[in-house]
Amino acid sequence: METKETPKKEKKDKKEKAPKIPESQGILTQLLIALAVFLLISAGYSTVKEYFAKGPEDVPLSQIAADVRAGLVAELTISGNTIEGRYKDESEKVSRKESEASFTETLSNYGVSAEQLAGVKIIVTDQGGARYWFLTLAPLLIPVLLLVGIMWYLSRQMRGGGGMQAFTFGRSLARLVSPEDEQQKVTFKDVAGAREAKAELTEIVDFLKNPKKFIQIGARIPKGVLLMGGPGTGKTLLARAVAGEGGVPFYSISGSEFVEMFVGVGASRVRDTFQVAKKSAPAILFIDEIDAIGRIRGTGVGGGNDEREQTLNQILVEMDGFEPNESVIVMAATNRPDVLDPALLRPGRFDRRVMIDLPDRRDREEILTVHARQKPLGPDVKLGVIAERTPGFSGADLANLMNEAAILAAREDRKEVTQYDLIRSIEKVMLGPERRSHVLNKKEKEITAYHEAGHALIASVLKYADPVHKVSIISRGRAAGYTLKLPLDDRRMQSKLEFLDDIAVSLGGYIAEKMIYNDVTTGASNDLQVLTALARDMVTKYGMSDKLGPMAYEAQPGRTLFGAGIEPGELSQEVASQVDAEVKAIVTEAHKRGLEVITTHRKVLDAIAKALVEVETIEREEFEKILIANGIVPKKKEDIEHQPLV
Ligand code: ADP
Ligand code: ZN
Ligand code: MG
Repeated sequence: METKETPKKEKKDKKEKAPKIPESQGILTQLLIALAVFLLISAGYSTVKEYFAKGPEDVPLSQIAADVRAGLVAELTISGNTIEGRYKDESEKVSRKESEASFTETLSNYGVSAEQLAGVKIIVTDQGGARYWFLTLAPLLIPVLLLVGIMWYLSRQMRGGGGMQAFTFGRSLARLVSPEDEQQKVTFKDVAGAREAKAELTEIVDFLKNPKKFIQIGARIPKGVLLMGGPGTGKTLLARAVAGEGGVPFYSISGSEFVEMFVGVGASRVRDTFQVAKKSAPAILFIDEIDAIGRIRGTGVGGGNDEREQTLNQILVEMDGFEPNESVIVMAATNRPDVLDPALLRPGRFDRRVMIDLPDRRDREEILTVHARQKPLGPDVKLGVIAERTPGFSGADLANLMNEAAILAAREDRKEVTQYDLIRSIEKVMLGPERRSHVLNKKEKEITAYHEAGHALIASVLKYADPVHKVSIISRGRAAGYTLKLPLDDRRMQSKLEFLDDIAVSLGGYIAEKMIYNDVTTGASNDLQVLTALARDMVTKYGMSDKLGPMAYEAQPGRTLFGAGIEPGELSQEVASQVDAEVKAIVTEAHKRGLEVITTHRKVLDAIAKALVEVETIEREEFEKILIANGIVPKKKEDIEHQPLV
């Protein structure tokens, strides 16, 4: 049981999936396998060596000397201090002498005479030779060389593209869309509406295309561009389009990706990301959702903010460190520009700010057209009508709407998307899918019908409320039923009188239930939350209370407590209780007016409720018929146009 006006959509911010740089994983695995194989072999090698080492018997030198004297030895091989004796009976023995003494000297010390030695063939080999060293050191050196090779390869990869993530903690996580990638490429043609934003960004595109022209004349090029706008308004899309138009690489990273558990990691990621981007200048470096790191510093309590602050500081340092001709332009996006640290907005940093509004009717039609490109539309489709019916939709919502319509058509095995598919999709995007399975029993159905009738009736009678466009008791999402009101214009501003009527309309369900059943259900709880919040905003934000006057009683935005939630407002107790009293007064007054409407038009309420129980959904024309039958003149566009809009 909800009143829905301009669709409030939760944020549906799909991450663009830019591909990682192709990693030549193949080479890496090959190297690793080579290393493993080598380790195995060298382990085997040493056992084999040990086995063969058993061959010649190791004996004391005196033994060899004795054998020479006895004339048993045929040949002696001396390499370094090792002496190998080959015997006449083909056996072999090894021994060692001390290093200083010469071999013959040593033997004569053991009492071997020159004649006895003359019968023995003596071979001296040079043990310092390359072959010797290679054989001894190879098992040690080769793995080390392989490791060094792998390290070198990895570091080259990381510097080269920023894609590698193995072993990379403080490394950049930026994703790259390269200008050669035709499939991923986005240009201004893909961004519908947003004319002002595009006009402002054209200058950046010019610079990226031809930086020399600007530098030669000594023009200072903005280093940072901040895109501001609600979720789904196309900030990410626009940033990519700038890179696409300029034909430069687009590095994108999300603010939250800088933040890790370990202090210092974020800062080092920032450093690396900037380095990567500078290497391929001219380039765009895009920091999405920068509010994740760019919040006002130094207001947190406790140490929870250290990491974020360091990261932010590093960004500031990097941006200051740019040479004017470095031609890396940092773009950032946020939907909370109010919480950003002022240091980020200083000249020389994000001094260009581009605001992206929700699309107006013309823009909506264009956006729908862009997203209808790949989808065959039926002859009855009028995108203008859909655009008219979707005030408050963001670009992402409209893209979603188009997609839902195509899904509906495909499900019903049709080759074309029809107008009816589109209209059904509006409600689906706005409210979530219908839940036909959620069956109300007879009593619940009646209560819901009266509840929605209450909303609808008050909306039709009160002067500044938006007219009703559809009433239904088919549950959608979390709501049991809904009343759709259609603002006749795209409005940027709302007045106090409109708010007051809105609050009365929101109370409609509650008032009707109470009047008919002398009881209230939980179905009204969401209405009450919404209207209370609205009344409070009127008092504390918009200065719409006569008692409290034109002051904003809000806490400073962006103050964080332990790095998390927003601190409660710093209202004095006295003011806080005045605010509460004013909020109550507003709601009470609205309740009185709503009650009056429903009491005077009780017959109409019954008629609407009865129709709802019967047909479950009433569209605008039928609804207006009921009103006219009961002597209420439906609102027309002209009636609303004298609304006190500034
Ligand atoms: P944001 O970053 O502002 O939250 P995105 O740029 O991610 O929004 O937009 C999400 C999607 O919505 C885009 O991929 C695109 O399909 C669609 N979209 C948003 N704005 C527009 C627009 N002006 N023109 C065309 N499509 C849009
Ligand atoms: Zn309700
Ligand atoms: Mg985005």
